[in-house]
Amino acid sequence: MRIAQNPKSLILGATSASLLVLALPAVAAAADDNKTQACVESLWPAAKGAGVTRATFDHAFQGFTNDPEVVEAANFQPEYVKPIGEYMDRVVSDKRIEAGKQKLVDYQALLGSLETRYGVDRHVIVAIWGVESNYGTQPGDKNVIRSLGTLYCTGTKAKFAKPQIVMALKILQHGDVTLEAMNGSWAGAMGHTQFIPTTYASFAVDQDGDGKRDIWGNIPDALASTASYLKVHGWRAGEAWGYEVALPKGFDPKRVSESTVKPVAEWQKLGIVRVNGEAFARASDKASLFAPAGAAGPSFLVLTNFRAILHYNTATSYALAVGHLSDRLRGGGPLVHPWPTDENHLALDQRIELQQLLLARGLLTGDADGVIGPATLEAVKAYQRTKGMPVDGFPSLTILKLLRSEG
Ligand code: CA
Repeated sequence: MRIAQNPKSLILGATSASLLVLALPAVAAAADDNKTQACVESLWPAAKGAGVTRATFDHAFQGFTNDPEVVEAANFQPEYVKPIGEYMDRVVSDKRIEAGKQKLVDYQALLGSLETRYGVDRHVIVAIWGVESNYGTQPGDKNVIRSLGTLYCTGTKAKFAKPQIVMALKILQHGDVTLEAMNGSWAGAMGHTQFIPTTYASFAVDQDGDGKRDIWGNIPDALASTASYLKVHGWRAGEAWGYEVALPKGFDPKRVSESTVKPVAEWQKLGIVRVNGEAFARASDKASLFAPAGAAGPSFLVLTNFRAILHYNTATSYALAVGHLSDRLRGGGPLVHPWPTDENHLALDQRIELQQLLLARGLLTGDADGVIGPATLEAVKAYQRTKGMPVDGFPSLTILKLLRSEG
């Protein structure tokens, strides 16, 4: 609360204490209201400078109030980093595979023309559509101006939000979408493709030629926008995103950095092969080894197109889900190596105990709050290194028991 800095509350402060208590909620609301209006107005110079008219600006912000759900979503901290296997199972579900196969049939001609024009594999386009918005069925139902305005005016993500708002206003002004239909996620990711406004401005495509780039309601525009985005970000026609591979016995993938890139031939020399016994397409493809669950889970050689997918979303688990879903849409089977599932679920009190033991060893700083974030994962990795264990950072029961046994 910043009400003490508001002149109105200072005036009220001179009145009797009992009156102040009674009057405070209404005054606080009015003060918040004024603050929000002042905040909206503070956006005007930037919008005007970008060519937005006052009419567009006023229309977009008419009756604007902050959306508490957006603030809540922006501040949400997941209690526990879910194992990647859980994420993959959820995202690449049988239901999503079946729905995607139907989309390949329904949009066969469109996808064919996008493949020709952009060189991007139709299965990958549909996979991104599926992961981003569940084929347009879950594009987010929050008005983008309100979401971004909230992020700006509550200071939650103000630096991110300001240029996005200006761009969103320009999109509205151009008439690509109405204010009412300009919906998306709490963070302003919009439509079938979940583009934020600045991404939209640079990469959205008018595929059907009606003069509007409509990623909210027009599937040709949306899918062409995805293909265009991937092409610009380095997609190579005719190449795979990556392969599930088998490692030679005793090979610890976590001893190889994910940023190590070398030709497939070099990996083959180490004894790495494809799981299904097929040959790699080209020995010269630049690949890195990706084994997010360590030696206990599946391993992959990922290629340039995996890195193109990472431009859509920087999470490697996301890129893997898109890649694997695209394989499944093409008719491929499930991963050969299962994800580890048995020892990754510590209860809250166990997670706190784990952190306390890591704190006691000087491997972790801060509080033992049971929230497994990057610091805890790094601490677990450091501990695993000292024990000569596979270094995967998983806060497993095995680790906890070992720490306990050492007192
Ligand atoms: Ca269009």
